[in-house]
Amino acid sequence: MNYNSTRNKSAVVSASQAIAQGISDEGGLFVPQQLPKYTEEDIKALAAMDYRGRAKKIMSDFLSDFSEEEINESVEAAYTAEKFGSDNPAPISYIESGDTAMSVLELWHGPTCAFKDMALQILPHLLTKSVAKTYNGKQAVILVATSGDTGKAALEGFCDVDGTKIMVFYPVNGVSPMQKRQMASQKGNNVSVVAIEGNFDDAQTGVKKIFTNNEIKSKLEKNNMLFSSANSINWGRLLPQIVYYFSAYCDMVNEGKLSLGDKINVCVPTGNFGNILASFYAMTMGLPIAKFICASNSNNVLTEFIQTGTYDRQRQFYTTISPSMDILVSSNLERLLYHLTDGDDKKVSEWMNSLSAEGKYTVDDDVKARIQSLFFGGFCDDENTQKTIRELYENENYLADTHTAVAVNVYQQYAEKTGDKTPTVIASTASPYKFSKSVLSAITDEKLSDDEFTLVDELSKKTKTAVPAPLAALKSAEVRFTKECAVDDMPAVVLESLHIG
Ligand SMILES: *Cc1c(COP(=O)(O)O)cnc(C)c1O
Repeated sequence: MNYNSTRNKSAVVSASQAIAQGISDEGGLFVPQQLPKYTEEDIKALAAMDYRGRAKKIMSDFLSDFSEEEINESVEAAYTAEKFGSDNPAPISYIESGDTAMSVLELWHGPTCAFKDMALQILPHLLTKSVAKTYNGKQAVILVATSGDTGKAALEGFCDVDGTKIMVFYPVNGVSPMQKRQMASQKGNNVSVVAIEGNFDDAQTGVKKIFTNNEIKSKLEKNNMLFSSANSINWGRLLPQIVYYFSAYCDMVNEGKLSLGDKINVCVPTGNFGNILASFYAMTMGLPIAKFICASNSNNVLTEFIQTGTYDRQRQFYTTISPSMDILVSSNLERLLYHLTDGDDKKVSEWMNSLSAEGKYTVDDDVKARIQSLFFGGFCDDENTQKTIRELYENENYLADTHTAVAVNVYQQYAEKTGDKTPTVIASTASPYKFSKSVLSAITDEKLSDDEFTLVDELSKKTKTAVPAPLAALKSAEVRFTKECAVDDMPAVVLESLHIG
């Protein structure tokens, strides 16, 4: 299977090249030329496997220039019980008391307690193998822009992986204290972390500019290095996410919650549109998904897009209690547009140029109609996010983080508006302990401490749930990175850190 660029159909690359390169030369994203199709029998066969078996089967259908051994190695190294707490890295909690059935797919049992681990524990294995195939001997330089969770998950995934260096940029005031501490204390000899004076979009734009800066690229080349991306625009990030939608469906069949062939909805707290796009790929491959519910916080650019067909990023930017969704430019939407226009690279290029030149674009009526037949868009502000956390805790004894609560709230809006009772998988994307202050203040009226680790302990005491071990360990971890820089200085900081300035 080969891959095209969303902005240039005549660019054709192999799977390993798509993963090694991250982004196409003209700025487009790599998409599979065709998708494998699974029948009900195929899904039944997946249901008989464990998570790793399902991952091997699905990934091998996409990574045609990887050997079976390479895929097995990557999967076995990534999804261990040691890293994810059990042999099922993505277990489901069922909330069934109301007249709607929510299956909460917990994607945060990995080493950094956020769903990014599902992809970033395996990406370094796929990436180093890809670089060895296509650019033998080069060192991969990973640049990451993060709104918090990606940064830590990428650092943890790439830490001391041979043949790689990783640099993470995060918005100085755009991540939680826990996220900041997680990144600033990262171990490893090939890692660095920099806070930038700007928001997530500034960080992401800064990284994209470095990727396409020919002067910097040639400096790297001279030094036998190559830029690559661990952001969710990398195909190697998306592919592992397709697996857990199939796996959740299989688990629900095995646990008697569904019969094979039954339809489900999925509801995803969305930022860069990677997670929800993975469910769209799963549906296109044959997983019976009826509706995609796209949940946003007050940065509701996607809600408006789904409702009107106009994507307009010129709006106020809100810093919310669900910071991993504080995004105005959802990069992976470009891939959806490519598929829904049946691969019209000219149109996609036009819209993306308009987005960067004028800050907005409007899709054609038929594309809008296709989007609306598949997607429901809704949003939830901070006040309602906290209200939802409290209700879930008091009524269902379920402790949700702020991002998951946004999804639950928007799902409830959807169920009320449509009366649809299709069983719905809610993607739960972070441990509540990653956002202890917001979660605790939602469920108690007591005055809260200013110290993050005191809050963690209080949350544990109040809810009688255990603090995840990696977060508990942070309390005594040494802070290694304190550097801050202006957005314009990012290129210089990169060159300096690689000692090739
Ligand atoms: C990254 C992230 C999201 C958004 O996921 P996308 O794939 O970017 O849409 C939601 N919740 C949490 C906790 C995250 O870390």
